[in-house]
Amino acid sequence: MKLYLEILLPNNFNNKCYFLIIMTYEYFATSVHCIDGRIQLALAEWAQREGNLPGTVKHLDSITRPGVNKIVSENTNIESIKMAVCISIDGHNSEAVLVSGHHDCAGNTDDAGEKVSDSVQKDQIRKAVEVISSWKTPNGKSLSDLKVIGLWVAPNSEGKWIANTV
Ligand SMILES: [Zn+2]
Repeated sequence: MKLYLEILLPNNFNNKCYFLIIMTYEYFATSVHCIDGRIQLALAEWAQREGNLPGTVKHLDSITRPGVNKIVSENTNIESIKMAVCISIDGHNSEAVLVSGHHDCAGNTDDAGEKVSDSVQKDQIRKAVEVISSWKTPNGKSLSDLKVIGLWVAPNSEGKWIANTV
């Protein structure tokens, strides 16, 4: 975490000088998302612009698997994903974990090999948030104490891929 002060000077008002001091900080966040190239920029843009995080996301650590929202929601064979998330949190003091799914995911299929619906995927994301929130890192941090946020990524009416909370 990097603390910095932003000082705007001077603001001359009624012949008196006022100083506006803004205190903020930059930090790491962690993103668990699909390998799909269409969603990478959308997730980075969401992290940069959203104000409900505790500061400014400077670095977004990325953990990728095809159809990862399905994998995490099923809560099986996820040790390597969990280990990567824990390294990001313990090693970088990451303060928020994003877990996402996206429209038209080639890695998220049902038993017949068909891509699952958007609504099923959004349920998987909500379940994945619960699973990740239950984790503890080797250094003893509870992820329930961090922000764990589920995101849905899909193209808007102009075809630009956008992330939004589910
Ligand atoms: Zn995908």
